[in-house]
Amino acid sequence: MGDVEKVIIIGGACAGLTAAIYTARARLDPLVFTGSMFGGQLMMTTDVENFPGFPDGIQGPELMDRMRRQAERFGARLIYEDVTKVDFSSRPFRVWAGDKEFLAHSVIIATGAKPRTLGLESEEKLLGKGVSYCAVCDGAFFKGSDVVVVGGGDSAMEEALHLTQHANSVTVIHRRDKLRASKIMQERAFANPKISFIWDSVVEDIKDVTKDRVTGVLIRNVKTGDKREIPCEGVFIAIGHEPNTKIFEGQVELDERGYIKVRDFVKTSVEGVFAAGDVHDHRFRQAITASAFGCMAALECERHLSEKGII
Ligand code: NAP
Repeated sequence: MGDVEKVIIIGGACAGLTAAIYTARARLDPLVFTGSMFGGQLMMTTDVENFPGFPDGIQGPELMDRMRRQAERFGARLIYEDVTKVDFSSRPFRVWAGDKEFLAHSVIIATGAKPRTLGLESEEKLLGKGVSYCAVCDGAFFKGSDVVVVGGGDSAMEEALHLTQHANSVTVIHRRDKLRASKIMQERAFANPKISFIWDSVVEDIKDVTKDRVTGVLIRNVKTGDKREIPCEGVFIAIGHEPNTKIFEGQVELDERGYIKVRDFVKTSVEGVFAAGDVHDHRFRQAITASAFGCMAALECERHLSEKGII
């Protein structure tokens, strides 16, 4: 059995790196598995204009790099590998990256969530060039533009309503003829003169990869088979998120959608295992709220280790 870490942090984006800064400054000498997806969803964002402290905005990847450097400055050890397996059934907790095993008195899970994608090649190529998964992050870049929102749930309605503050028009494209969104969100969206709906339709392609920017979407009516192109400058895809919790199934309690269940903000069903950020928070999903949860998890982790006499 190797050395037992005081804390292992799984995840290297806002929540994980903030937890790393706090635990490192508390002299817990954190070992951080950033995963191959270092930086999380902010690595897909260009300008971040709503993270306090950056009045002129900051590029998503640069913000993550600054958080990384801040964590390392206080001694956090970062490993750019994915955790592949965990065992929280006995103490110390066991964490594997590939075939290498690590032991820890406490664990902070901050693996985040990922937006569901349409799975189109053009969607991937035009990401950050008109394709976005976050209206709050990117909506302001579409002032006076025509944009589309894909999806029929609460997120899609929220995105559409937010976008009306910036865009000239917002067209919601939904694959059925009924929204999944709550009644109140539907009513708000229907009442907004800037929002219109295209029903029973799916996006087959996003134009125009050859121009390196969004110029429209090719849609197909699933009932008639008719295809047509809708000109637009922005495509916001809001078809749900998936938490990155596969390796935690059977280890900590998850809700019916796979998010980690927490009490007291960051405590999981296993004492000494904490969860921070989008891996449990499907409501706010902001960089700043993920960071805030990272801070809370670090403080609770420190308290836990102290109560157990480990520090
Ligand atoms: P959601 O409720 O799962 O809705 C996803 C929407 O995307 C559905 O309309 C679904 O269509 C559509 N969709 C899924 N996969 C698709 C695909 N491959 N192609 C095209 N369309 C696809 O997800 P959500 O809207 O992110 O909401 C998640 C949860 O958070 C919900 O419980 C929601 O109530 C909550 N939430 C609440 C608020 C609020 O109250 N303000 C805001 C945001 C989220 P179908 O309808 O045909 O399945």
